Amino acid sequence: MDLISLIKTVGYAGVFLVIFIESGVFFGFFFPGDSLLFTAGFLASQGFMNIWVLIIGVVISAVAGVSVGYAFGFKIGPMIFKREDSLFFHKDNLVHTQHFYEQYGKKAIILARFMPGIRTFAPILAGVGKMNYSVFFLYNVIGGLLWGAGLSLSGYYLGNTIPNIDKYILPIILLIIFVSVLPTFIHIFKEKSAREKAMKLIKNMMPGKNKKILALNWKMNPESLTEALVIAKSSDHKNAIVIPPSIFISEVARILKRAKLGAQDVFYKEVEKGPYTGAVSAKELKNLDVKYVIVGHSEKRAMGETDELISQKIKTVLDNDMIPILCVGENLIQHKNGSTKKILEDQLKSDLVLIDDLKKQIIIAYEPIWAIGSGNPETPENAVETINYIKSSIKKEHPYLDIKVFYGGSVVSQNIADFLKRKEIDGVLIGGASLKPETIFK
Ligand code: PEP
Repeated sequence: MDLISLIKTVGYAGVFLVIFIESGVFFGFFFPGDSLLFTAGFLASQGFMNIWVLIIGVVISAVAGVSVGYAFGFKIGPMIFKREDSLFFHKDNLVHTQHFYEQYGKKAIILARFMPGIRTFAPILAGVGKMNYSVFFLYNVIGGLLWGAGLSLSGYYLGNTIPNIDKYILPIILLIIFVSVLPTFIHIFKEKSAREKAMKLIKNMMPGKNKKILALNWKMNPESLTEALVIAKSSDHKNAIVIPPSIFISEVARILKRAKLGAQDVFYKEVEKGPYTGAVSAKELKNLDVKYVIVGHSEKRAMGETDELISQKIKTVLDNDMIPILCVGENLIQHKNGSTKKILEDQLKSDLVLIDDLKKQIIIAYEPIWAIGSGNPETPENAVETINYIKSSIKKEHPYLDIKVFYGGSVVSQNIADFLKRKEIDGVLIGGASLKPETIFK
Protein backbone atom coordinates (compact mmCIF):
# COMPACT_ATOMS: atom_id res chain seq x y z
CA MET A 1 0.00 0.00 0.00
CA ASP A 2 1.41 3.43 -0.86
CA LEU A 3 1.61 6.28 1.62
CA ILE A 4 -1.30 8.20 0.10
CA SER A 5 -3.72 5.28 0.48
CA LEU A 6 -2.25 4.45 3.91
CA ILE A 7 -2.87 7.96 5.24
CA LYS A 8 -6.35 7.99 3.75
CA THR A 9 -7.07 4.72 5.58
CA VAL A 10 -5.60 5.52 9.01
CA GLY A 11 -6.58 9.23 9.08
CA TYR A 12 -5.40 11.78 11.60
CA ALA A 13 -5.20 9.31 14.48
CA GLY A 14 -2.92 6.95 12.53
CA VAL A 15 -0.59 9.77 11.43
CA PHE A 16 -0.35 11.18 14.96
CA LEU A 17 0.31 7.73 16.42
CA VAL A 18 3.11 6.98 13.94
CA ILE A 19 4.74 10.36 14.61
CA PHE A 20 4.47 9.82 18.36
CA ILE A 21 6.03 6.34 18.24
CA GLU A 22 8.72 7.33 15.79
CA SER A 23 9.75 10.33 17.88
CA GLY A 24 10.87 8.44 20.93
CA VAL A 25 9.56 4.92 21.34
CA PHE A 26 12.54 2.75 20.54
CA PHE A 27 10.83 0.28 18.20
CA GLY A 28 9.57 3.12 16.00
CA PHE A 29 12.90 3.88 14.39
CA PHE A 30 11.97 2.33 11.05
CA PHE A 31 8.63 4.13 10.66
CA PRO A 32 8.30 6.65 7.83
CA GLY A 33 8.49 10.17 9.22
CA ASP A 34 9.53 12.80 6.72
CA SER A 35 7.67 11.14 3.88
CA LEU A 36 4.57 10.63 6.01
CA LEU A 37 4.44 14.29 7.01
CA PHE A 38 5.11 15.54 3.51
CA THR A 39 2.47 13.27 2.02
CA ALA A 40 -0.06 14.19 4.73
CA GLY A 41 0.61 17.87 3.94
CA PHE A 42 0.10 17.12 0.28
CA LEU A 43 -3.20 15.37 1.05
CA ALA A 44 -4.26 18.43 3.04
CA SER A 45 -3.64 20.54 -0.06
CA GLN A 46 -5.98 18.21 -1.98
CA GLY A 47 -8.73 18.65 0.61
CA PHE A 48 -8.42 15.26 2.35
CA MET A 49 -7.25 16.77 5.64
CA ASN A 50 -7.30 20.11 7.37
CA ILE A 51 -3.77 21.52 7.41
CA TRP A 52 -4.16 23.19 10.82
CA VAL A 53 -5.52 20.12 12.53
CA LEU A 54 -2.70 18.17 10.92
CA ILE A 55 0.05 20.58 12.04
CA ILE A 56 -1.22 20.98 15.60
CA GLY A 57 -1.68 17.23 16.03
CA VAL A 58 1.68 16.38 14.48
CA VAL A 59 3.62 18.90 16.60
CA ILE A 60 1.92 17.72 19.81
CA SER A 61 2.57 14.05 18.94
CA ALA A 62 6.20 14.76 18.01
CA VAL A 63 6.87 16.69 21.21
CA ALA A 64 5.08 14.09 23.34
CA GLY A 65 6.94 11.19 21.67
CA VAL A 66 10.31 12.82 22.27
CA SER A 67 9.40 13.51 25.91
CA VAL A 68 8.44 9.88 26.41
CA GLY A 69 11.79 8.85 24.86
CA TYR A 70 13.63 11.11 27.30
CA ALA A 71 11.69 9.73 30.30
CA PHE A 72 12.43 6.19 29.13
CA GLY A 73 16.16 6.90 28.81
CA PHE A 74 16.23 8.73 32.14
CA LYS A 75 14.68 5.70 33.87
CA ILE A 76 16.50 2.87 32.13
CA GLY A 77 19.92 4.61 31.94
CA PRO A 78 20.83 4.14 35.61
CA MET A 79 19.34 0.64 35.65
CA ILE A 80 21.57 -0.48 32.81
CA PHE A 81 24.70 1.34 33.84
CA LYS A 82 24.40 0.53 37.53
CA ARG A 83 25.29 -3.01 36.62
CA GLU A 84 28.97 -3.65 36.56
CA ASP A 85 30.43 -3.56 33.08
CA SER A 86 29.15 -6.14 30.70
CA LEU A 87 29.66 -6.80 27.03
CA PHE A 88 27.17 -4.17 25.84
CA PHE A 89 26.99 -1.79 28.72
CA HIS A 90 30.06 -0.12 30.09
CA LYS A 91 29.46 2.61 32.62
CA ASP A 92 31.91 4.83 30.77
CA ASN A 93 29.25 5.06 28.11
CA LEU A 94 26.99 6.87 30.54
CA VAL A 95 29.67 9.46 31.19
CA HIS A 96 30.43 9.85 27.49
CA THR A 97 26.74 10.28 26.78
CA GLN A 98 26.48 12.89 29.53
CA HIS A 99 29.44 14.79 28.16
CA PHE A 100 28.09 14.64 24.63
CA TYR A 101 24.66 15.95 25.63
CA GLU A 102 26.12 18.68 27.86
CA GLN A 103 28.06 19.97 24.90
CA TYR A 104 25.95 19.16 21.86
CA GLY A 105 22.53 18.30 23.35
CA LYS A 106 20.68 21.34 22.01
CA LYS A 107 21.86 20.85 18.45
CA ALA A 108 21.46 17.08 18.67
CA ILE A 109 17.81 17.33 19.74
CA ILE A 110 16.94 19.61 16.84
CA LEU A 111 19.07 18.04 14.11
CA ALA A 112 18.17 14.47 15.04
CA ARG A 113 14.56 15.27 14.20
CA PHE A 114 15.61 15.42 10.58
CA MET A 115 17.60 12.20 10.62
CA PRO A 116 15.57 9.06 10.03
CA GLY A 117 16.41 6.37 12.59
CA ILE A 118 18.53 8.69 14.74
CA ARG A 119 15.46 10.74 15.65
CA THR A 120 14.05 7.87 17.68
CA PHE A 121 17.21 7.28 19.72
CA ALA A 122 18.42 10.84 20.30
CA PRO A 123 15.83 11.69 22.99
CA ILE A 124 16.35 8.33 24.69
CA LEU A 125 20.09 9.03 24.90
CA ALA A 126 19.38 12.58 26.12
CA GLY A 127 17.48 10.98 29.00
CA VAL A 128 20.27 8.48 29.64
CA GLY A 129 22.72 11.41 29.65
CA LYS A 130 20.44 13.33 32.04
CA MET A 131 20.38 16.41 29.85
CA ASN A 132 18.89 19.36 31.75
CA TYR A 133 15.12 18.88 31.31
CA SER A 134 14.04 22.49 30.75
CA VAL A 135 16.72 22.97 28.08
CA PHE A 136 15.76 19.63 26.57
CA PHE A 137 12.06 20.54 26.52
CA LEU A 138 12.64 23.90 24.89
CA TYR A 139 14.69 22.35 22.07
CA ASN A 140 12.22 19.50 21.81
CA VAL A 141 9.44 22.00 21.10
CA ILE A 142 11.58 23.97 18.63
CA GLY A 143 12.57 20.76 16.84
CA GLY A 144 8.97 19.50 16.86
CA LEU A 145 7.74 22.73 15.30
CA LEU A 146 10.47 22.91 12.68
CA TRP A 147 10.13 19.31 11.69
CA GLY A 148 6.41 18.63 12.15
CA ALA A 149 5.09 21.91 10.82
CA GLY A 150 7.94 22.38 8.32
CA LEU A 151 7.45 19.12 6.46
CA SER A 152 3.64 19.16 6.52
CA LEU A 153 3.60 22.73 5.25
CA SER A 154 6.12 21.90 2.49
CA GLY A 155 3.80 19.13 1.24
CA TYR A 156 0.83 21.47 1.55
CA TYR A 157 2.57 24.30 -0.24
CA LEU A 158 3.93 22.21 -3.11
CA GLY A 159 0.59 20.40 -3.46
CA ASN A 160 -1.10 23.76 -3.88
CA THR A 161 1.42 25.23 -6.30
CA ILE A 162 2.67 22.42 -8.54
CA PRO A 163 0.16 20.56 -10.67
CA ASN A 164 0.43 16.73 -10.59
CA ILE A 165 2.86 16.90 -7.68
CA ASP A 166 1.82 13.39 -6.57
CA LYS A 167 3.88 11.99 -9.46
CA TYR A 168 7.04 13.48 -8.00
CA ILE A 169 6.48 12.68 -4.36
CA LEU A 170 9.17 9.98 -4.09
CA PRO A 171 12.07 12.04 -5.53
CA ILE A 172 10.94 15.01 -3.45
CA ILE A 173 10.99 12.90 -0.28
CA LEU A 174 14.50 11.65 -1.09
CA LEU A 175 15.62 15.21 -1.66
CA ILE A 176 14.10 16.28 1.67
CA ILE A 177 15.92 13.51 3.52
CA PHE A 178 19.20 14.36 1.79
CA VAL A 179 18.90 18.08 2.48
CA SER A 180 17.90 17.53 6.10
CA VAL A 181 20.79 15.19 6.84
CA LEU A 182 23.34 17.39 5.07
CA PRO A 183 23.84 20.11 7.75
CA THR A 184 24.56 17.47 10.39
CA PHE A 185 27.24 15.85 8.27
CA ILE A 186 28.77 19.17 7.31
CA HIS A 187 28.90 20.13 10.98
CA ILE A 188 30.44 16.82 12.02
CA PHE A 189 33.03 16.86 9.25
CA LYS A 190 33.96 20.50 9.70
CA GLU A 191 34.29 20.60 13.46
CA LYS A 192 37.06 18.34 14.71
CA SER A 193 35.87 18.23 18.30
CA ALA A 194 32.27 17.46 17.28
CA ARG A 195 33.57 14.69 15.02
CA GLU A 196 35.75 13.22 17.75
CA LYS A 197 32.94 13.37 20.30
CA ALA A 198 30.44 11.76 17.94
CA MET A 199 32.92 9.02 17.01
CA LYS A 200 33.71 8.42 20.66
CA LEU A 201 30.04 8.11 21.50
CA ILE A 202 29.45 5.65 18.67
CA LYS A 203 32.60 3.67 19.44
CA ASN A 204 31.75 3.43 23.11
CA MET A 205 28.37 1.99 22.28
CA MET A 206 30.07 -0.87 20.42
CA PRO A 207 30.46 -4.14 22.24
CA GLY A 208 34.02 -5.16 23.08
CA LYS A 209 35.32 -1.64 22.61
CA ASN A 210 36.47 -1.05 26.13
CA LYS A 211 39.87 -2.59 25.89
CA LYS A 212 42.21 -2.50 28.81
CA ILE A 213 44.97 0.07 28.56
CA LEU A 214 48.69 -0.51 29.05
CA ALA A 215 50.46 2.69 30.13
CA LEU A 216 54.20 2.31 29.56
CA ASN A 217 56.31 4.48 31.82
CA TRP A 218 59.90 4.34 30.55
CA LYS A 219 61.11 6.49 33.46
CA MET A 220 64.68 7.81 32.79
CA ASN A 221 65.31 5.22 30.05
CA PRO A 222 66.78 4.33 27.59
CA GLU A 223 70.16 5.95 27.09
CA SER A 224 69.99 6.64 23.38
CA LEU A 225 67.47 7.81 20.83
CA THR A 226 68.17 4.74 18.70
CA GLU A 227 67.10 2.46 21.52
CA ALA A 228 64.11 4.66 22.24
CA LEU A 229 62.84 4.34 18.69
CA VAL A 230 63.22 0.55 18.75
CA ILE A 231 61.19 0.33 21.97
CA ALA A 232 58.59 2.76 20.63
CA LYS A 233 58.14 0.68 17.49
CA SER A 234 57.38 -2.51 19.36
CA SER A 235 55.10 -0.66 21.79
CA ASP A 236 52.94 0.78 19.04
CA HIS A 237 49.70 -1.01 19.89
CA LYS A 238 46.22 0.43 19.88
CA ASN A 239 45.66 0.04 23.62
CA ALA A 240 49.09 1.38 24.66
CA ILE A 241 50.10 4.73 26.07
CA VAL A 242 53.81 5.21 25.48
CA ILE A 243 55.37 7.50 28.06
CA PRO A 244 59.01 8.29 27.23
CA PRO A 245 61.17 10.84 29.04
CA SER A 246 60.55 14.31 27.62
CA ILE A 247 63.83 14.34 25.69
CA PHE A 248 62.50 11.60 23.36
CA ILE A 249 58.86 12.65 23.08
CA SER A 250 59.02 14.46 19.77
CA GLU A 251 60.94 11.66 18.02
CA VAL A 252 58.75 8.94 19.49
CA ALA A 253 55.68 10.89 18.35
CA ARG A 254 56.82 10.44 14.75
CA ILE A 255 57.01 6.67 15.12
CA LEU A 256 53.68 5.98 16.80
CA LYS A 257 50.76 5.16 14.56
CA ARG A 258 48.38 3.37 16.91
CA ALA A 259 49.55 3.99 20.47
CA LYS A 260 48.86 7.21 22.35
CA LEU A 261 51.61 9.42 23.68
CA GLY A 262 52.17 10.34 27.32
CA ALA A 263 54.58 12.49 29.34
CA GLN A 264 56.13 11.78 32.73
CA ASP A 265 55.75 15.26 34.17
CA VAL A 266 54.54 18.78 33.45
CA PHE A 267 55.15 22.28 34.77
CA TYR A 268 52.52 23.08 37.36
CA LYS A 269 51.66 26.59 36.24
CA GLU A 270 49.24 27.38 33.48
CA VAL A 271 51.83 29.23 31.37
CA GLU A 272 52.84 28.33 27.86
CA LYS A 273 56.48 29.38 28.06
CA GLY A 274 58.77 31.60 30.10
CA PRO A 275 61.69 31.82 32.50
CA TYR A 276 61.30 28.42 34.19
CA THR A 277 64.56 26.54 33.76
CA GLY A 278 64.17 22.84 33.21
CA ALA A 279 60.40 22.94 33.01
CA VAL A 280 58.13 21.68 30.21
CA SER A 281 54.75 23.34 29.87
CA ALA A 282 51.44 21.62 29.26
CA LYS A 283 51.05 23.58 26.06
CA GLU A 284 54.44 22.38 24.79
CA LEU A 285 53.41 18.78 25.51
CA LYS A 286 50.05 19.26 23.86
CA ASN A 287 51.78 20.63 20.77
CA LEU A 288 53.75 17.38 20.55
CA ASP A 289 50.47 15.44 20.53
CA VAL A 290 50.80 14.24 24.10
CA LYS A 291 47.45 13.00 25.40
CA TYR A 292 48.32 11.75 28.92
CA VAL A 293 50.56 13.08 31.67
CA ILE A 294 51.75 11.19 34.74
CA VAL A 295 51.34 13.24 37.90
CA GLY A 296 52.28 12.36 41.47
CA HIS A 297 54.43 9.32 40.72
CA SER A 298 55.94 8.09 44.00
CA GLU A 299 59.43 8.64 42.56
CA LYS A 300 58.55 12.31 41.97
CA ARG A 301 56.86 12.59 45.36
CA ALA A 302 60.09 11.29 46.89
CA MET A 303 61.91 14.13 45.09
CA GLY A 304 59.66 16.70 46.74
CA GLU A 305 56.49 16.84 44.67
CA THR A 306 53.82 17.89 47.15
CA ASP A 307 50.07 17.30 47.01
CA GLU A 308 49.63 21.01 46.39
CA LEU A 309 51.88 20.90 43.34
CA ILE A 310 50.17 17.74 42.17
CA SER A 311 46.72 19.32 42.37
CA GLN A 312 47.93 22.28 40.31
CA LYS A 313 49.52 20.00 37.73
CA ILE A 314 46.29 18.03 37.39
CA LYS A 315 44.34 21.20 36.80
CA THR A 316 46.86 22.42 34.23
CA VAL A 317 46.78 19.09 32.39
CA LEU A 318 42.98 19.07 32.30
CA ASP A 319 42.79 22.69 31.24
CA ASN A 320 44.96 21.78 28.28
CA ASP A 321 42.64 18.94 27.29
CA MET A 322 45.00 16.16 28.24
CA ILE A 323 44.31 13.34 30.68
CA PRO A 324 46.26 13.11 33.94
CA ILE A 325 47.43 9.74 35.20
CA LEU A 326 47.47 10.40 38.92
CA CYS A 327 49.59 7.91 40.87
CA VAL A 328 48.62 7.17 44.45
CA GLY A 329 49.83 4.50 46.83
CA GLU A 330 51.04 3.63 50.29
CA ASN A 331 54.55 2.76 51.45
CA LEU A 332 55.48 -0.52 53.15
CA ILE A 333 55.05 0.76 56.71
CA GLN A 334 51.63 2.16 55.93
CA HIS A 335 50.75 -1.07 54.16
CA LYS A 336 51.77 -3.15 57.15
CA ASN A 337 50.05 -1.02 59.73
CA GLY A 338 46.77 -1.12 57.80
CA SER A 339 46.56 2.57 56.93
CA THR A 340 46.44 2.12 53.13
CA LYS A 341 42.85 3.33 52.72
CA LYS A 342 43.40 6.37 54.86
CA ILE A 343 46.57 7.29 52.93
CA LEU A 344 44.79 6.90 49.60
CA GLU A 345 41.81 8.90 50.75
CA ASP A 346 44.05 11.76 51.90
CA GLN A 347 46.06 11.73 48.68
CA LEU A 348 42.96 11.70 46.49
CA LYS A 349 41.29 14.40 48.48
CA SER A 350 44.19 16.83 48.28
CA ASP A 351 45.30 15.93 44.75
CA LEU A 352 41.84 16.35 43.23
CA VAL A 353 40.93 19.46 45.17
CA LEU A 354 41.13 21.87 42.23
CA ILE A 355 39.17 20.00 39.63
CA ASP A 356 35.60 20.55 38.65
CA ASP A 357 34.04 17.27 37.72
CA LEU A 358 32.16 17.92 34.59
CA LYS A 359 33.59 16.91 31.25
CA LYS A 360 36.76 15.69 32.94
CA GLN A 361 38.49 12.42 32.44
CA ILE A 362 41.21 11.20 34.73
CA ILE A 363 43.14 8.00 35.29
CA ILE A 364 44.16 6.98 38.78
CA ALA A 365 47.06 4.53 39.00
CA TYR A 366 47.02 2.63 42.24
CA GLU A 367 50.71 1.95 42.80
CA PRO A 368 51.71 0.54 46.17
CA ILE A 369 55.17 2.06 46.62
CA TRP A 370 56.54 -1.18 48.04
CA ALA A 371 55.51 -3.03 44.89
CA ILE A 372 57.17 -0.66 42.40
CA GLY A 373 60.31 -2.13 40.89
CA SER A 374 60.46 -4.76 43.64
CA GLY A 375 59.39 -7.81 41.67
CA ASN A 376 56.77 -8.25 44.38
CA PRO A 377 53.39 -7.08 43.05
CA GLU A 378 50.21 -6.75 45.06
CA THR A 379 47.89 -9.70 44.47
CA PRO A 380 45.15 -9.04 41.89
CA GLU A 381 42.52 -9.75 44.60
CA ASN A 382 43.90 -7.11 46.96
CA ALA A 383 44.47 -4.69 44.09
CA VAL A 384 40.80 -5.09 43.11
CA GLU A 385 39.68 -4.44 46.68
CA THR A 386 41.73 -1.25 46.90
CA ILE A 387 40.69 -0.13 43.42
CA ASN A 388 37.02 -0.55 44.36
CA TYR A 389 37.69 1.55 47.41
CA ILE A 390 39.37 4.24 45.27
CA LYS A 391 36.43 4.26 42.85
CA SER A 392 33.83 4.56 45.57
CA SER A 393 35.69 7.22 47.53
CA ILE A 394 36.16 9.37 44.38
CA LYS A 395 32.51 8.91 43.44
CA LYS A 396 31.51 10.40 46.79
CA GLU A 397 33.45 13.62 46.25
CA HIS A 398 33.30 13.81 42.45
CA PRO A 399 30.21 11.97 41.24
CA TYR A 400 30.52 13.14 37.64
CA LEU A 401 34.22 12.62 37.18
CA ASP A 402 35.01 10.13 34.44
CA ILE A 403 37.61 7.89 36.08
CA LYS A 404 39.52 4.79 35.17
CA VAL A 405 41.67 3.07 37.76
CA PHE A 406 44.83 1.20 36.83
CA TYR A 407 47.10 -0.99 38.88
CA GLY A 408 50.87 -0.45 38.81
CA GLY A 409 53.77 -2.11 40.62
CA SER A 410 55.92 -4.93 39.21
CA VAL A 411 53.53 -5.80 36.40
CA VAL A 412 55.46 -8.07 34.04
CA SER A 413 54.73 -10.56 31.26
CA GLN A 414 54.05 -13.39 33.75
CA ASN A 415 51.35 -11.58 35.74
CA ILE A 416 49.87 -8.95 33.42
CA ALA A 417 46.95 -11.15 32.34
CA ASP A 418 45.97 -11.80 35.97
CA PHE A 419 45.48 -8.08 36.48
CA LEU A 420 43.88 -7.30 33.14
CA LYS A 421 41.29 -10.03 33.39
CA ARG A 422 39.76 -8.39 36.47
CA LYS A 423 36.91 -6.22 35.28
CA GLU A 424 37.51 -3.66 38.05
CA ILE A 425 41.04 -2.95 36.76
CA ASP A 426 40.83 -0.66 33.74
CA GLY A 427 44.49 -0.95 32.80
CA VAL A 428 48.02 -1.23 34.11
CA LEU A 429 50.90 1.18 34.56
CA ILE A 430 54.10 -0.60 33.73
CA GLY A 431 57.61 0.64 34.58
CA GLY A 432 60.55 -1.72 34.14
CA ALA A 433 58.83 -4.15 31.76
CA SER A 434 57.81 -1.32 29.45
CA LEU A 435 61.38 -1.33 28.13
CA LYS A 436 60.81 -4.85 26.82
CA PRO A 437 57.47 -4.36 25.08
CA GLU A 438 57.77 -7.59 23.11
CA THR A 439 57.35 -9.50 26.39
CA ILE A 440 54.13 -7.76 27.37
CA PHE A 441 52.46 -7.58 23.95
CA LYS A 442 52.91 -11.28 23.29
C1 PEP B 1 56.06 2.54 37.90
O1 PEP B 1 57.13 3.08 38.05
O2 PEP B 1 55.04 3.21 37.72
C2 PEP B 1 56.00 1.08 37.95
C3 PEP B 1 54.86 0.50 38.04
O3 PEP B 1 57.18 0.45 37.87
P1 PEP B 1 57.43 -1.15 37.80
O4 PEP B 1 56.46 -1.70 36.80
O5 PEP B 1 58.83 -1.28 37.37
O6 PEP B 1 57.15 -1.67 39.16
